[in-house]
Amino acid sequence: MLIECSECGHQISDKATTCPNCGAPVSDGKYDKQQKVFVEETSKDIKIVNIIGAIIATIGMLIIIISLVSLDFYTVWFGFAVLFFGIIVGVVSGVKKWWHHG
Ligand SMILES: [Zn+2]
Repeated sequence: MLIECSECGHQISDKATTCPNCGAPVSDGKYDKQQKVFVEETSKDIKIVNIIGAIIATIGMLIIIISLVSLDFYTVWFGFAVLFFGIIVGVVSGVKKWWHHG
């Protein structure tokens, strides 16, 4: 994995002890620790967004069912919009998850 030298910004291997460009010592693993905490906090946010997306999609489906039963076809489209929005929220958080772990 390549990291950025804290002194000159040169791309260097995290296994190197010093920067080949400027000779500055490579940071002592603080960078990795910070990144791990960031990923953990991000996945917690993704779970919350996933739940919100599922709730929005469920509300959308309920609106569709209720409006179909009452033959209110204008509200059906509103239900589809809500359902679609919920799916988008879920899909976006899924893509973010893939991006951080892949
Ligand atoms: Zn450097």
